[in-house]
Amino acid sequence: MAHAHNPQADALLDKEFKVLDHGIVRLVDYMGSDSAIVQAARVSYGEGTKQVTQDRGLIRYLLRHKHTTPFEMVEFKFHIKLPIFVARQWIRHRSANVNEYSGRYSVMREEFFVPDAAEIRYQSTVNKQGRSTEEVPDELKKRVLEYLVESQKEAYAKYSEFVEDGLARELARINLPLSLYTEWYWKIDLHNLFHFLRLRIDPHAQKEIQEYGLVMADIVKTVCPVAFEAFMDTMSTRSVFPVLRWQF
Ligand SMILES: Cc1cc2nc3c(=O)[nH]c(=O)nc-3n(C[C@H](O)[C@H](O)[C@H](O)COP(=O)(O)OP(=O)(O)OC[C@H]3O[C@@H](n4cnc5c(N)ncnc54)[C@H](O)[C@@H]3O)c2cc1C
Repeated sequence: MAHAHNPQADALLDKEFKVLDHGIVRLVDYMGSDSAIVQAARVSYGEGTKQVTQDRGLIRYLLRHKHTTPFEMVEFKFHIKLPIFVARQWIRHRSANVNEYSGRYSVMREEFFVPDAAEIRYQSTVNKQGRSTEEVPDELKKRVLEYLVESQKEAYAKYSEFVEDGLARELARINLPLSLYTEWYWKIDLHNLFHFLRLRIDPHAQKEIQEYGLVMADIVKTVCPVAFEAFMDTMSTRSVFPVLRWQF
């Protein structure tokens, strides 16, 4: 079979999709599409696939029966810019290949995440890892935002001062906060990307990582729409996605 060509997916390559205040998701490259899943599955089923003539039916059958290896034939390479506290959660997904910006080699840029005022919430009383829907008074929001911005500026000013004093970058950076942005290339196959999305788009995941997951879900939808539709159908109703943001 010839190299799969998907003009809609090709049109996404190298576009920067904004996430949070300074973050990005960029699809650097991809390999395969729905047809790569079908192609790989037919190697294992051979004549058996005669019963499942439609590609869509085969893909849905595979996902329903957890025959997941054909989904590993599709790969995505992303360039992601994200706050370090999001990166700490993200890196737990061991099934990807990662190469991150080096704060030992390069000077960290002065880019910090500051939440929108509307996102400043009390601790949830029903979810130990989540936010309450109860409104926080403006005065408290203001205090939080002022503190975040001031302390970020102060930490970065000291960092810059020590770098200019000739201190090793690997030491100068150690007191920079988790709100600082980092970047990485992140390559993963579709099977493991579905696993990542299932966990990170779920409402129990931290809001900021959900934001990245939603953009990536839209990209997956464009690269392999049939597999994505099948994946969506496996999601529990509890975690039905908010409407996807970008319609490419
Ligand atoms: C809402 C939420 C809350 C969380 N809270 C916490 C927390 O409080 N503390 C915390 O430490 N983490 C927490 N995590 C992280 C979580 O425990 C996982 O580390 C993370 O979701 C990555 O999942 P994974 O290991 O399945 O993914 P991957 O690392 O991508 O692995 C994919 C799959 O490969 C298999 N696998 C990979 N490595 C191994 C291995 N060494 N042995 C056996 N099987 C393996 C497993 O089947 C695994 O599911 C949380 C995650 C979520 C989504």
